[in-house]
Amino acid sequence: THFGYRTVPLGEKQTLVDDVFHKVAKRYDIMNDLMSGGLHRAWKNVLISKLRPPQGDRPFRLLDLAGGTGDVSFRAVTAGGTGTRAVVADINTEMLAVGRERAEKRGLSDKVDFREANAEELPFEDASFDAVTIAFGIRNVPRIPLALSEMRRVLKPGGQALVLEFSKVDVPLLDKIYEFYSFRVIPELGKRVAGDGEPYQYLVESIRRFPAPDVFAQMMRTAGFARVTATPLTGGIVCLHSGYRI
Ligand code: SAM
Repeated sequence: THFGYRTVPLGEKQTLVDDVFHKVAKRYDIMNDLMSGGLHRAWKNVLISKLRPPQGDRPFRLLDLAGGTGDVSFRAVTAGGTGTRAVVADINTEMLAVGRERAEKRGLSDKVDFREANAEELPFEDASFDAVTIAFGIRNVPRIPLALSEMRRVLKPGGQALVLEFSKVDVPLLDKIYEFYSFRVIPELGKRVAGDGEPYQYLVESIRRFPAPDVFAQMMRTAGFARVTATPLTGGIVCLHSGYRI
């Protein structure tokens, strides 16, 4: 399969990723619930509890990178006070279009903006956000160090970066179940529900190739983040990374 993308040039990796999310945009949210058994909601809630958007009218500006259909931003502006605003930035117009529609339905259009942007080259000013989040997005970016230094650049001093990503399961037995689930069940579900197994094959491969938590933590430090932590969730199925610009 051409999804053995480790051998493809960087530019082509992005094309492949764009193709995947172009195909799944309309069904993204339902597939997310189905494939994670609703767990992605709990993981996103942990992310928001670490983000701690302020209550009241204190201004708080969040950049939700690779924000797709807006989940993290909707949660952040709902959890925060009236001063909390979010920008969903994503490279894929289809995902953003679904996001805009959802924002409207929830009455959150005045609090959440949608912008087409590449995580490797952000169209935002230096030190313009209080926090940057990226949930299940960083593993899709061809040059992760570039994205990390862009995240740091747009953060205000004292601002926090939070990265939620799939990780390595480190619990005996759960690792076997997880392996079976991801290599057998997920592509099959993709084929049956979304009509195409290949995007989900990509999903599983990209998770397997993503660096382990300690390696990723080191990448964050190299990008200039301080007080870097990695918190495994659900036996290591996902990991929440945090770092600050100081
Ligand atoms: N954050 C959302 C969530 O948790 O539901 C969406 C995650 S989705 C698995 C990954 C997103 O990353 C897709 O919407 C895709 O378009 C976006 N993406 C991939 N490469 C990107 C890049 N280079 N810059 C910005 N976004 C990118």
